[in-house]
Amino acid sequence: MAQLFASPGMYVQGYGELKNIAKYAEPLGESFLVIGSKNRIRDLGETIKKSFQDDSKLTFVEHNGSCTISEIEKIVKIAEEKGGDVIIGMGGGKVIDTAKAVAGRLKKRVVVVPTVAASDAATTRCAVIYKEDGSEDCEEVYASNPDLVIADTEIIMKAPVKYILAGMGDAMAKCVAAPVCYRGFQPNELGGGVTELAYSLSNLIHDILMNHGELAVAALEQGVMSHDLNKVIEMNVLISGIGCEVNGATTDHAFYAGFTTLQNRKESMLHGEYVTFSSLATLVLEGAPKETIDEYYNFCTRVGLPVCLADLKLDYMSEDDFRQVAQMVTECGGTAHLPFEVTVDSAVAAMKTADAIGKMYKAGKRLV
Ligand SMILES: [Zn+2]
Repeated sequence: MAQLFASPGMYVQGYGELKNIAKYAEPLGESFLVIGSKNRIRDLGETIKKSFQDDSKLTFVEHNGSCTISEIEKIVKIAEEKGGDVIIGMGGGKVIDTAKAVAGRLKKRVVVVPTVAASDAATTRCAVIYKEDGSEDCEEVYASNPDLVIADTEIIMKAPVKYILAGMGDAMAKCVAAPVCYRGFQPNELGGGVTELAYSLSNLIHDILMNHGELAVAALEQGVMSHDLNKVIEMNVLISGIGCEVNGATTDHAFYAGFTTLQNRKESMLHGEYVTFSSLATLVLEGAPKETIDEYYNFCTRVGLPVCLADLKLDYMSEDDFRQVAQMVTECGGTAHLPFEVTVDSAVAAMKTADAIGKMYKAGKRLV
């Protein structure tokens, strides 16, 4: 199996860096179609116009907030009529994924300007497409990763703290899954072998999370930028984004996938919040050493990431609900990368034990 690695063409991170977007994007084409929500275009449109100087190169398109086939087709039509060598997606995951989908269909270059650092969407070559009713439809994979990613830390740090926290949880999943897949010679998300560079990213994420995570949250809560926060933004957007495609997955996203099938959820939490608990349950499922389990639970409790089902507003789950989630866990592709069989019973046991450990940590007790 050949080893495969992929990454965005160029990555730019800086405080207030959106003002320089033209410098990085202009080498990619002559005309630019900017996709963003009404509010983002209102707040950031002027900065982009000033950067490009010449307004006639730019077309702004308002995004309706969901990444559906109809929304993608609407924007494809506008791009065909008005032109646009380069598609720029400015916003959260759904806007970014729409930009990738539009560019993928038209074989255009794509630039991503993430306005939150909550998930891996900015740097990956795939998009999650939703149905009109809001449920997940499918995942599309494109020929290449975005050509350019501009992470303006001034914009990203102004979003509510929970977004960066969720991104930290999504990053943490790689620390849990990557070592298991690497040691087991399991394929990565690109379908190839894992490179040394890819595997090193999971160690880097662990280092940034454990040494800078709490300090980054402290800075965020004060509304100030710091070296720690800058490192965590790079981890969430770039390192975790590359890391998720070039490493393998296990059940770090499988429990999450199961939770999303529960129709009776009272509230929908962020992707990274579910993934945090999904990763903790994975450690329990594997029978990880208690020092490892303690390290992650202690970290999550200290920064305020979910550690029990109540934190995910899922403490109402019935026995049937547990089994429904567990069934999904057994069916997820990554689950087969674990070096042992996962059954419905063992997945239910992992969830219940992970929940009990979480409650213990919330009560101030620890395993070690
Ligand atoms: Zn994820």
